[in-house]
Amino acid sequence: MITGANTGIGQAIALALAQAGADIACVGRTPAEETVEQARRFGRKAEVISADLSTLEPVQRVVDETIAKLGRLDILVNNAGIIRRADAVDFSEADWDAVIDTNLKSVFFLCQAAGRHMIGQGRGKIINIASMLTFQGGIRVPSYAASKSGVGGITKALANEWAGKGVQVNAIAPGYIATNNTAALQADDVRNTAILDRIPAGRWGDPSDLGGAAVFLASSAADYVTGHILAVDGGWLAR
Ligand code: NAP
Repeated sequence: MITGANTGIGQAIALALAQAGADIACVGRTPAEETVEQARRFGRKAEVISADLSTLEPVQRVVDETIAKLGRLDILVNNAGIIRRADAVDFSEADWDAVIDTNLKSVFFLCQAAGRHMIGQGRGKIINIASMLTFQGGIRVPSYAASKSGVGGITKALANEWAGKGVQVNAIAPGYIATNNTAALQADDVRNTAILDRIPAGRWGDPSDLGGAAVFLASSAADYVTGHILAVDGGWLAR
């Protein structure tokens, strides 16, 4: 089950998992028809599940629907997320709540709902999508930095609790990836140049750059890897 799989990083991860042999449930507010169509070409089952993850209302339903449609739930990728930009002195309560609710609160309760099922079956993999702002403060995105730092925290907290129950909980921290989420940065010549100058790889990441890390963390090759935040960042954090 992958949230926000209609576009960007979520779509790329969903397709990488499908190519590696997973059936996929694409959970989100925009139907992931294109993703599902492509996954079926890999010979996998693929289903669209509609849900707006800005509240907890759909959380248990999407887990139940995934299990009903695919027959099982072994892997959860919490990818859906939003960002709001404003100077900290002007930052609104609405922008604070919107980002924290989608990026952190829904992520925790999706982990909980999927985790209960995975603990029951004695195995499972949870992969949360973190960020460079799990480690750094960023510029003009305080609620996003707080939410993604929180994602790092709950990833480690759940890994501790569930390591003995066969459920591994890890995160992937993408660097600067060319998607809708970063369209404003890519379009801003000053920020775009500053970002590119600081990436050792010398280019924006492509969503497909995240596929290998997701397949690894979702596989039995990572059965002894838990509580880890894997940066896929072209060297950004090493600099
Ligand atoms: P994106 O293209 O904007 O995709 C975000 C996805 O989340 C979309 O599928 C979006 O659905 C979904 N989503 C947002 N709010 C939702 C809601 N309330 N209910 C259901 N789905 C919702 O951005 P992206 O870059 O691929 O981002 C994916 C994840 O990676 C996010 O968690 C983001 O914070 C993280 N990330 C991105 C970067 C980067 O450089 N791009 C770096 C670090 C971390 P709609 O299409 O319907 O809006």
